[in-house]
Amino acid sequence: MTKNLHSQEYEIEATMAPNKKCPSCDSTEVRIEQPREFNYDRIGLSGVSLAGNGVTIFNCNNCKNKTTVIRQEQQLTQVIGISILVNGPGITGEQVRYLRTLFGSTQKDFADAIGKRRPTIAEWEAKGIKPVFGKPFDEIGLRLFLMHQFTDKVLESDYCFLSVQQEKEFSDFAGSFVENLQKILDKNKRPKKITINRPRRSQNWQTVQCLSG
Ligand SMILES: [Zn+2]
Repeated sequence: MTKNLHSQEYEIEATMAPNKKCPSCDSTEVRIEQPREFNYDRIGLSGVSLAGNGVTIFNCNNCKNKTTVIRQEQQLTQVIGISILVNGPGITGEQVRYLRTLFGSTQKDFADAIGKRRPTIAEWEAKGIKPVFGKPFDEIGLRLFLMHQFTDKVLESDYCFLSVQQEKEFSDFAGSFVENLQKILDKNKRPKKITINRPRRSQNWQTVQCLSG
């Protein structure tokens, strides 16, 4: 199932690449931009930027639309999830909301699964760009829960768009969680920004910051 989804995406890309037409009106009167860094703010998360060859902006002279095409966006949303989980301390309110949505859970489902009440989850998420917990040590339980949910709801689902390498990166990190605790708790490692890269000649998005790497 997963493999089929992967190969389908490759086909779409292969036919898209040489076809320099405006995605809105099909005109060839189009100027293509491939930004070196793209602020990916459409998913309700601050500080996520995309590098490499995954973003193409079509500026159309005919219909005047500016269309941004993100390659393998479903995979990207899952790689961002990994990036949050393998990063330093200070998981923020909006990151909790992002992951909960990625897991397809309501606040109520999420609260029941972690053994809290729904208003607690709402309070966490309302913290926005601030860390949910002031002290990194306090977020260990939340992190363990989120990693467990990621395995259940993403890795082991029919909608996993991750490559074998990406799955391994996450599993290695989760498997050595205790060894990684020191880094997770190190306040100096608090991430300011998440960068996801899609190198030339690669079909996959990659986390740039990775504690286990
Ligand atoms: Zn157009």
